Amino acid sequence: KTFEDLNLPKHLLDAVYAMGFDRPSAIQEEALPRILADPPRNLIGQAQSGSGKTAAFTLGMLYRIEINDPPVTQALCVTPTRELAIQIVDKAVAPMAANMTGLQIVLGIAGAEHRSKIQAHLIVGTPGKLVDWLKRKQLITSGIKVFVLDEADNMVDLSGHRANVQTIKKQMPRTCQTLLFSATFPEEVVKFATKMVENPDQILI
Ligand code: AMP
Repeated sequence: KTFEDLNLPKHLLDAVYAMGFDRPSAIQEEALPRILADPPRNLIGQAQSGSGKTAAFTLGMLYRIEINDPPVTQALCVTPTRELAIQIVDKAVAPMAANMTGLQIVLGIAGAEHRSKIQAHLIVGTPGKLVDWLKRKQLITSGIKVFVLDEADNMVDLSGHRANVQTIKKQMPRTCQTLLFSATFPEEVVKFATKMVENPDQILI
């Protein structure tokens, strides 16, 4: 399969090739038809880092976003660490959005202070900071179309993270697409994933 076969819009296809990707990885080939489906499918994916999962869910987020001004938040990605959030923005979201003029990306991590409403189409952040913004009513969730949980196993490990992710999940619109990735699925993670993602397709690479 090629990226053309996956029906990516031209601005994303161009970006993928500009990043030097020739062909979809195995997980991208499995996941992208579901991620890009209309109506969207929810997904639980077992994927190690190095599998290309970040590109898969990043393309999913960017595919659904309409650029508007002032920006409506339409995609939210939650990660267990600050470093991972930064890496996702720098290595995946920013280069893949190279042709999306006007796209506003915000990092939701400790140290990122915003006085008022968060002005972003897409947010990548950690559970604690995102809950903080929700409590302060700075993060408007009603327009979110894609909700991504990356490294779910590393969120379940920390009970504070788990509770915060549950709080965030409760604020997601009922119709929003949910994509959850984890390297491992011990029983606790299966339980957590089942609570977070309704009626998912499941893929294992
Ligand atoms: P990840 O599994 O998301 O941490 O990605 C692992 C690495 O693979 C990253 O450096 C990506 O830029 C790269 N990558 C992702 N998808 C592809 C692809 N289809 N072809 C080549 N490299 C890729």
